[in-house]
Amino acid sequence: MSACKLGCCTPTAERLPRGGWSEDGLTIDPRRAEHNRRLWAATSARIDRMHADYPKCKACGQPALALDAAGLCSKVTESHKTYRVRMGLPPVPAPAGRGGRR
Ligand SMILES: [Zn+2]
Ligand SMILES: [Zn+2]
Repeated sequence: MSACKLGCCTPTAERLPRGGWSEDGLTIDPRRAEHNRRLWAATSARIDRMHADYPKCKACGQPALALDAAGLCSKVTESHKTYRVRMGLPPVPAPAGRGGRR
């Protein structure tokens, strides 16, 4: 029987029903608590790394999947509008549509 892939559980703990969670899903068996902590740490580290790869909006500093021509996220708050205008762009970016306008 292989041990847990995070290296924290004994085979007995690994085979606990519902992964060690109580029936109401509110408490975890102490033998699985470390596993849960490691799992959570691994997940949030991955999310952090993912976000770190995103370019950051120049106005609010928020990582965004895509920035517009002014280097801003898609928000349209006053500070974003001001920044776009300063960059010589329309305050609200035109919706990115493919295939022409309707
Ligand atoms: Zn484990
Ligand atoms: Zn922004």
